[in-house]
Amino acid sequence: MITIYWHCLKPVASEKDEKFISSALGQLAKHLRKEPIELAISIKRLLDEPKLARKVTEILDKLSDQSYTFTNCASEITGVLPIGEASTARLFIYCSPSNYVAVAAHREEPVAKWGGTCWPLASLYEYNNKNGVFHETLHLLGAEDCYEKKDPSQKKPDCNLDSCIMEYSPPVNISENWPFLCDKNVNLLRQVKKNACPKLTLE
Ligand SMILES: [Zn+2]
Ligand SMILES: [Zn+2]
Repeated sequence: MITIYWHCLKPVASEKDEKFISSALGQLAKHLRKEPIELAISIKRLLDEPKLARKVTEILDKLSDQSYTFTNCASEITGVLPIGEASTARLFIYCSPSNYVAVAAHREEPVAKWGGTCWPLASLYEYNNKNGVFHETLHLLGAEDCYEKKDPSQKKPDCNLDSCIMEYSPPVNISENWPFLCDKNVNLLRQVKKNACPKLTLE
């Protein structure tokens, strides 16, 4: 079982923000549990596990120091999340673009305009961007980008879907209906190993 913990950081921590994230993740999980991916996945609010939330927050707070990078943070997060054989976890952070988590991700990867992921840590710092929730969470589960890094408007030739959520700017409503993932990424998600550590995808 893979658990995605989600957490909203101030100043984005209203009930509305929490509702948005938990419902978007819930919607994604519903798709992932079904064919063709059939992933055992659960979505949890980090604050419902206060001990874990405290440890995670301590690590995230280090990002206020510029010498501590998003990659440093992600690697330290692996030490506190339950990452094991029987069950394993990932962390999804929602925050404002001025939050130090967002600033650190953007500093490390300038192409990461609205969100960044470095396994097992994903961040989204554009409000109400459901595509962003899906895209970054799918990175956490092993999906790869379908755009050329040198020119994000260019689609990768191995993406066989007209509109794929792993593109740089997929259509706004793409996350509403399946399919929103190309065959390449469906296959990657089907093979997701409990302890798999996909290469860094900071964007
Ligand atoms: Zn694709
Ligand atoms: Zn991406």
